[in-house]
Amino acid sequence: MAGERHQPPLAGVAGRPRILVVEDEPRIREIITLYLERAGFVVQSTGDGRTALEAFDADPPDLVVVDLLLPGLAGEALISAIREVSDVPIVVASAKRADEDRIDAFRLGADDYVTKPFNPVELVARVRAILRRVQPPEPRIDQPLSFAHGRLVVDPTTRHFTVGPREGRLTPTESRLLLALAAAPGVVFDRERLLSLATRGVSETTRTVDVHIANLRHKLDDDAARPWAIETVPDAGYRWVAPADPPTTATHSADHGRVS
Ligand code: CA
Repeated sequence: MAGERHQPPLAGVAGRPRILVVEDEPRIREIITLYLERAGFVVQSTGDGRTALEAFDADPPDLVVVDLLLPGLAGEALISAIREVSDVPIVVASAKRADEDRIDAFRLGADDYVTKPFNPVELVARVRAILRRVQPPEPRIDQPLSFAHGRLVVDPTTRHFTVGPREGRLTPTESRLLLALAAAPGVVFDRERLLSLATRGVSETTRTVDVHIANLRHKLDDDAARPWAIETVPDAGYRWVAPADPPTTATHSADHGRVS
């Protein structure tokens, strides 16, 4: 569940962070496991996507390292299934090198992506960095947020949103990005700042922010050329332009004492 993962594992006295490694190539699985264990993590590993999901459900880890080409259940499907129930950091380690594959993985909710062959020391560094950056839970906002006279309504807790007749669910990264932008309407955020605010990964370039923004715009039915929500500021970054609506409680107080 969304609220359960947020204790920074490195700070806990309860034990070392636990990592689920999903990799079907035995040699690579052994190397990843070895390096992570040497780095002080507790590792559970499997070569099968379906077994991984069962292991995840039985005892959710602090972070998941996942291959994409897997027997049983493809890595992409595994990421989607995990994101249905958890914000746990997910690092993809895949031989798929195409931009579309990376974009797809981020769209599904991955936090970071390394391409094979990779240096296991680098993977360990990325895992450490992500766990260090895992944020405590955002202040709980029970009210859905509404923008542009109800055009966009977002529930920050469930990440469920509606845009007119469309509805869907934001990934944790998209949600952090949206909430960061919308909390300061009109303020220009450069990509570096958005990257540190919104992603937990050590993503290699700030271009990752552009990918998340593009995915967000697509979900929100926003148009980069004529934006109603997120405006691109050339050579600077992005800013939120949708006006915030008053909290829905205002409606109740306005109704108070009125006979309908
Ligand atoms: Ca594989």
